[in-house]
Amino acid sequence: MIPGPIEFTPEVMRAMGMPTTSHVAPNFIETFGQALERLRQVFLCPSGQPFVVAGSGSLAMDMAAANLVEPGDKALVVSTGYFGDRFAAILERYGAAVTQVCGPAVGDVAALEEVEAALKGGGYKLMTITHVDTSTAVGADVQGLAALGRERGALVVLDGVCSVAGEEMRQEEWGIDLALTASQKAIGVPPGLALVVAGPRALDAFRNRKTPVGNYYADWTQWLSIMEAYETRQPGYFGTPPVNLIWALNVSLGQILDEGMDARFARHRRLSEALKAAVTALGMKQVPVSPDKTATTLTAPYYPDGVDRTMLAHVKEAGVILAGGLHPEIKARYFRIGHMGAVSASDVLATVGAIEKGLAQVGHKFEPGVGLAAAQALLLK
Ligand code: PMP
Repeated sequence: MIPGPIEFTPEVMRAMGMPTTSHVAPNFIETFGQALERLRQVFLCPSGQPFVVAGSGSLAMDMAAANLVEPGDKALVVSTGYFGDRFAAILERYGAAVTQVCGPAVGDVAALEEVEAALKGGGYKLMTITHVDTSTAVGADVQGLAALGRERGALVVLDGVCSVAGEEMRQEEWGIDLALTASQKAIGVPPGLALVVAGPRALDAFRNRKTPVGNYYADWTQWLSIMEAYETRQPGYFGTPPVNLIWALNVSLGQILDEGMDARFARHRRLSEALKAAVTALGMKQVPVSPDKTATTLTAPYYPDGVDRTMLAHVKEAGVILAGGLHPEIKARYFRIGHMGAVSASDVLATVGAIEKGLAQVGHKFEPGVGLAAAQALLLK
């Protein structure tokens, strides 16, 4: 129950173990083509161009910055923590002049008015938003922020690494020009794929560049024709695709679409509410400052007074692996629970049970079962 790599379905793992074929074998070409079509549906972006490239989520961020930014361009980073800082660093590497807008405190996100004021200052080629900051479980109002960016003519770029296919995200309807993720989170495939969907405005910005892309591997000049080839069921080659990961991706995207995007968003919301209710009932506060700024793929509780990360070892002994804190300012004071992908109500109850065991083992006083009862009350609704 960490925020990625998550647990993968048996069908996905079977695809990982299939004998690897050539990247131009007819069955692989068909699989890759289908995966690209399905990616467009999972991102809810019918007019988007998907890119599937071997790499992690940071490569997807790198690809966005390398292809959209030219030296001297202005970029606005709406930062909610660790991964906002990373996006700023990547953009700067390609010569962007970056302004960051941060929330007033850890666990918060800048108000829409503040972002609007920054955008008014003007001339931003693009803005980036971290949908769910994995370091804090803060969820941004992507729809509201994207509308502001669009109004001011900025390309809207979404880091959806901890959100896509779990948290509600409607790329085209919400006016997001580029959304990106990685395979190991709610997409449900082992680590190793950078996934990007670029809308028409992002592709136009790339095509109208005056300078070459300053990164050889991430350059869409190479990848665009490869993605177009596979989607029209033709072979293509620039870099050897990770054949088994792409089989696994196609299986997982099929499972996601079989569940249906609306049902999937609703399941993530419901499980998240149950887990968060349990955390509250056990007397723990959360890092996000309010429920409307909280992710549904992740929960970040502060340890109760007198408890520290030694509790996590006991939770692990009880059979559940959780993640420690990541945000440097509060790292030792909180922990993280990921709940995305193929998670169920049983997983939530097992997790809460293990947390109660961990708290009891470190001598924290609480009424046994109070967390479980709070979660179950919501799950039975
Ligand atoms: N952005 C966010 C929001 C993330 O959670 C992560 C990974 N935890 C990344 C970017 C970077 O992805 P990766 O570790 O796959 O490079």
